[in-house]
Amino acid sequence: MRHVLGISGGKDSTALAIYLKTKFPDLANQVEYYFADTGKELPETYKLLDELQSFLGKQIVRLEANSSHKNAFDHYLDVYNGYLPSSMARWCTKKLKLEPFETWVGNDQVLSYVGIRGDEDREGYISTKQNIQSIFPFRRNIWSLEIINLVMHNSSIDKFFDVYSKFSPTGLTERYKEIILTPQSRKYLLSQKLNDLLNISVSTFNRVVFEFLKDKEYPISKLKEYSLLEKEESIYLNGVYQLFKENGVKTPGYYDEIEYEVNGEKGTYKRSRSGCYFCFYQRKIEWIWLYERHPDLFKLAQEYEKDGYTWMDNESLNDIIQPKRMAEIKQENIEKFKKKLSIPKSNKLIDTLVNDEELCANCFI
Ligand code: SF4
Repeated sequence: MRHVLGISGGKDSTALAIYLKTKFPDLANQVEYYFADTGKELPETYKLLDELQSFLGKQIVRLEANSSHKNAFDHYLDVYNGYLPSSMARWCTKKLKLEPFETWVGNDQVLSYVGIRGDEDREGYISTKQNIQSIFPFRRNIWSLEIINLVMHNSSIDKFFDVYSKFSPTGLTERYKEIILTPQSRKYLLSQKLNDLLNISVSTFNRVVFEFLKDKEYPISKLKEYSLLEKEESIYLNGVYQLFKENGVKTPGYYDEIEYEVNGEKGTYKRSRSGCYFCFYQRKIEWIWLYERHPDLFKLAQEYEKDGYTWMDNESLNDIIQPKRMAEIKQENIEKFKKKLSIPKSNKLIDTLVNDEELCANCFI
């Protein structure tokens, strides 16, 4: 059994590594850390990896895609006939992040720890190989949707009931019976049923799932004990920042808000997520950030725009750095910020304009 944690260079996967080391040291001792390196990452990411490595006292293994003659991204760009990756054709994630990871683990039985937070309602784009099981320690429910669907399926009610009777320390209260024996339906959704059980006890629920899976073929089925089952808490965005602060680890430098001025007004910009410097998921203001903070990398990104291919749908990198256009983008960013301030805050973090569900755990979490 291998335990692995992919560091994307983002705050959540880094915080998860800190969390496991400080709260579950025995488990953390077994964890192998890796970083799927496209060779096109931001310098801030490489700096973070060095600092995190010192904190963990363990190596973060760098995984690179196979390419004998040049950088793997450039190699696959040739293979895809110069077709730049985009949200519709995301070959980069598959070739440079997922495949090197799957090759590295081979056919080993693997528990892969993913830093999706308790305030996020998604699983991300993760490996679906049978020998790789994803675990989400920041959430109350640490299991993947596949496992939940299996364990809480209406056809499993009897077994679920039996396991609960055996492993609930309080025995099967009337409330437990009522929840477990009520089948999921349009009136009683799976998510509701799950939350009702978690609201009574997180650790009991996670223990029951663990025991339920004992006769199945999942990697976790092979473990006799599992320390994460004792966990009751869930980590939200504030908790992530707290983990950095309490443990003296710096958040990745690209998150720092940098002030700029346009049309006599002040605004701030930053890069909102990790990943390649030319990532097509970045917003226009982040491209401007790259242009002004890392002009050399912006220039390299520009060199990829040829034969009619561009990183963005409707304009090229050369278009957006024209003074008039750049001022517009900066101004729009200030207006968006003002609008955001005027909308009441939700406890779900919406720090992105793209669909997070599709984002690759290895690139951004
Ligand atoms: S960070 Fe963006 S460009 Fe890089 S591999 Fe991930 S999706 Fe592709």
